[in-house]
Amino acid sequence: MGERMPVLRLQDIDLHYNNSGKPLVVLDRADFILNRGETVALVAPSGTGKSTLLHVAGLLERPDGGQVELCGKSCSHISDDERTKIRRSDIGFVYQFHYLLPEFTALENVMIPQMIAGLDKKIAQYRAFKLLEYLRVAHRAAHRPAELSGGEQQRVAIARSVANAPLVLLADEPTGNLDPVTSEYVFRALAALVQQSGLAALIATHNHTLARQMNRRITLQDGKILELA
Ligand code: ADP
Repeated sequence: MGERMPVLRLQDIDLHYNNSGKPLVVLDRADFILNRGETVALVAPSGTGKSTLLHVAGLLERPDGGQVELCGKSCSHISDDERTKIRRSDIGFVYQFHYLLPEFTALENVMIPQMIAGLDKKIAQYRAFKLLEYLRVAHRAAHRPAELSGGEQQRVAIARSVANAPLVLLADEPTGNLDPVTSEYVFRALAALVQQSGLAALIATHNHTLARQMNRRITLQDGKILELA
């Protein structure tokens, strides 16, 4: 108990974009460790590199330098196929906009990633329903995304992101598109889920009230990751 176990480690990460010949340094030897069961808020102004950092951590983008480790395993020199596999099994993503599949029901949206991962349909259905129940949106299971409120859509998206029991949840302003009351409600659901499941979560947010409820807070400054009080 209380043992620190890194699930995600970013070491010496460099990343720059080439903006019509002018290099834009977004990450400059950035270091970060996320431990099992930990929730960390990433609070920084727009344009400082929050999404980029989440993409690097989530193996969606390769850094120009440095190491990304998941559970002690380096992901730097592995093939794109291998990265996709790890991303599907070990990483859950939640975005500001839900990106649920419009032609499927809430339940089906949570079932689909599990079935892609090879789970039997009945088991996927059971697990999807349990997750929707946990996030208190099971009564809307048979509805399509367009028939759900913003808060309900986001709770379904959270259920989908953890449907394959990932190790790490990465969220990019998951409540940024919601009113304050709904935002608080969705965030509580997310925090409870993380706590219950022992997941680790890195959540970019502009909401300082929500950020204060997490275990740690970090920011980005001049390409470096700094701990906030
Ligand atoms: P944040 O999420 O904090 O708003 P981003 O990670 O989206 O910041 O972007 C960091 C910086 O990198 C911004 O200045 C943005 O304009 C720039 N940027 C992001 N993606 C690209 C890209 N694909 N090509 C060039 N510049 C980019």
